[in-house]
Amino acid sequence: MKADAGGARRGRLTTPHGAIETPVFMPVGTQATVKSLRNEALEELGARIILGNTYHLYLRPGHELIRKLGGLHKFMSWNRAILTDSGGYQVFSLSELRKITNEGVRFRSHLDGSEHLLTPEKAAEIQLALGADIAMVLDECIETPAPRDIAQAAVKRTTAWAKRAHTHFLQQAQRNGELSQWHFGIVQGATFADLRRESTQQLLEIDFPGYAVGGLAVGEPHGVTCEMTVVVTELLPREKPRYLMGVGRPEQLADYVALGIDMMDCVLPTRAARHACIYTSEGKVLIKNARYAQDQRPLDPVCSCSVCKRYTRAYLRHLFAAGELTAAILATHHNIHFYLDFMRQIREAIEFGNLAKFSSEVQARYVAGPA
Ligand SMILES: [Zn+2]
Repeated sequence: MKADAGGARRGRLTTPHGAIETPVFMPVGTQATVKSLRNEALEELGARIILGNTYHLYLRPGHELIRKLGGLHKFMSWNRAILTDSGGYQVFSLSELRKITNEGVRFRSHLDGSEHLLTPEKAAEIQLALGADIAMVLDECIETPAPRDIAQAAVKRTTAWAKRAHTHFLQQAQRNGELSQWHFGIVQGATFADLRRESTQQLLEIDFPGYAVGGLAVGEPHGVTCEMTVVVTELLPREKPRYLMGVGRPEQLADYVALGIDMMDCVLPTRAARHACIYTSEGKVLIKNARYAQDQRPLDPVCSCSVCKRYTRAYLRHLFAAGELTAAILATHHNIHFYLDFMRQIREAIEFGNLAKFSSEVQARYVAGPA
């Protein structure tokens, strides 16, 4: 790891499915696909790692089926790295359908109402069966803003679950000869700095190969997200990767990197694309807007992606208006290119020691808005 004047670091993560330059943004591939993108496109875009979703893949088509078919990489024909979440976040989002105990979370499937129990051990087993390069522990996710006693109880349970998950993961991985898989701990603690510190210290004692900051970017102000993140990154060892889960907006990415974050993921670029929201070097372009009806320019005049090289704003606007599937495909391609290229520029800025300057220029362009 090479750090610049702030907390930003350049690094490289080595996985059985290739090396990943960090800081990195990871596109989200919930159901074993990044929505509306073929894997060929993801490769063309230079994505080195994507996310898979344990909750969804466990329910459909099932982790045992995926294991039988050779693991998630083979199943989805993606030979680069995959990080899977623990499934906890989705299960905890099913507020009507779940019940939490020290053993785990009992929940009903959103698909067919069938009852399931997700324990820390089970979450580890599912991710081992999928063959994730990086797996995550099951943590207790709570609603925010949270009262202190609830946040404190969630930290306690998250640590207890992390211990169980870590032991189980190592035992199973050893038995299967899959020791190349990584397993990250997740720091909780809501918006209480002392609870965040407590959670970090407890996970450090378990000694994970990497650490994630969870339970943030769930509605609290950006300043609070940053404040809580730095409380955690200050305590983490320099040589291990740090992952801030579920972020973020383009203009925020450099802030998190400056706080020492190496990995980020978010559905934003893909979801926004399907809703006709295009990220550009000058801010958001809402392509359905009438002002683009005769606009012959590309989505982003300075973008080098294959969509911007070929298609106009007027055409994209028409495809969205007509409800054509191609609209989502083209918009997603551009948005993922935008995010990945943005991270490349961030990595370059760290190497040149001018991340702060890069960040303030981005902010200024976003405030000014698109032409
Ligand atoms: Zn483009």
